[in-house]
Order: sequence, then C-alpha cells, then structure tokens
Amino acid sequence: MTTFWATILVFLFGYMINAFYITVLYHRGLTHRAIEMKPALEKWLAFSGPWLTGIDPKAWACMHRLHHLHSDTEHDPHSPVHYGIFGVMLGQLRSYEKILRRLKRGDPQYTDVVSDIKFDVHVLNRKKLWPVPYILHLGIAVAVGYAFGSTWVGAAYFLGIMSHPIQGWLVNSFAHHSGYRNFDSADNSKNNTLVAIFVFGEGFQNNHHSRPFAANFAVKPTEVDMGYWLCLGAEKLGMIKIPRGAESPQSEMNHAY
Ligand SMILES: [Zn+2]
Ligand SMILES: [Zn+2]
Repeated sequence: MTTFWATILVFLFGYMINAFYITVLYHRGLTHRAIEMKPALEKWLAFSGPWLTGIDPKAWACMHRLHHLHSDTEHDPHSPVHYGIFGVMLGQLRSYEKILRRLKRGDPQYTDVVSDIKFDVHVLNRKKLWPVPYILHLGIAVAVGYAFGSTWVGAAYFLGIMSHPIQGWLVNSFAHHSGYRNFDSADNSKNNTLVAIFVFGEGFQNNHHSRPFAANFAVKPTEVDMGYWLCLGAEKLGMIKIPRGAESPQSEMNHAY
C-alpha cells in the first residue's frame, strides 16, 4: 500500500470512530433519545466516550440540549449570530468548558437539563485529567507513524480520531448560516449539503431542529444522511433500536430537544 492510500485509510478509520460516537451515540442516542441504546451500551459510552473522542458525553449532551433550547439566541452556546462563522470554533470550546465546570459544581441550571442521564461527568474530567486521552492518541499516532514509516500516516490517525472540534465547527457555524430550509423553524438552522456529506448528516440542521426526535436527519429523497446508515448498521448488530411507527417519539410534539 502506498503512503498516500495508507494516510487516507488511517484518517478515515479514526474519523469514522469519532463520527460514530458523536453523531450516533452522543447526539441521536444520549441527547435526543432518537435511538434506543441498550443499558450496557450506554454504560460503555459513559466510560469509553472521553477516551476515544476527548469529549465528555454528559457535558456534550448538556451543551447540545442548551443549543436546541436557545438556538441562535444569546443563550445559544455556539451560534454564528453571536460568535461569527470562525468565532464558533473557540466559542464552542469556551461554552463546553463552562458547562463542564457548572456540571461538576452541581449548578441546577445545568444539571436539570441532563437530569435523565444517570451517569456522572467522566472521572477524567472530574480529576482534571482531560489531556490524558489526547496524550494517549498522540502516542498511538507516533506508533502508527513508526509502523507505516511515515509521519503523514501518524498525523492522519490523530487528526481523524480527534476531529470532533472541526466537525462540530462545520455543523455549528455553516449549518446555522448557509443552506436551504425545509421547515420554517424559529431559529437560523439551515440544511447545508456539503456539511451533511462531510459530517454524516449533521449538516441537515434545519430538518433536525424541526424533528429532533427523528433518527434520520434526511426528509427528502434527494437528501442522504450517512449517520442514519450508521444507525441502521448498529441496529443490525443489535447495539441499538430505532423506534418506528407507534413506538416513534415523533408523536411527542412537546419534545423540547
Ligand atoms: Zn443546530
Ligand atoms: Zn440535536
């Protein structure tokens, strides 16, 4: 295998793991309950999430629910209206850090938002050990680079598996700024096809904000949500269940997020 193809494949390997965790488990599973996770999977997510993605599942779910509750208002943790397209990158990090601090402190303004999530903030974040997963993946990247005899391949591993800040920035900025709308929602959410391709359906923010309880973010035949394909694959493997028909939470019109 050439170094070029090894770089691409190793990047995709890391990127897919990150995307699966964030869009399927953190977002559609934990935050919106649009898919049902087996209790054992939720426990595994609580333990393994920060190790694999560097992101705390409870803090992420809290931040994202606040985003849905206050989309594009001054209380939105990462709206381009207030931070600007490029400012969202740093803005989302600052909001995440603040939410993590408030959850650890037990501030009811934040803990109430995620009161249904029974596990605590991860021990890595409680003990201020959050850099450990980053150092671990850096070590793995060095080993991968050494094994393939190429710094590029090692860097591709690290950038792929730690890609969430970039994926989050693309979604939180562009998919609330540019694109088309299928639904007349009260926020600025847009369907941005390019972002939807790169970030596994997450670019369909207008669809998603209007139907947060739906596992599939695509609503038109021309829209492709690859994150939903990951959900279907996980369902086939018996990891999750996608509510359908009468079981579907779509009837809960008072669903806040
Ligand atoms: Zn949004
Ligand atoms: Zn959402």
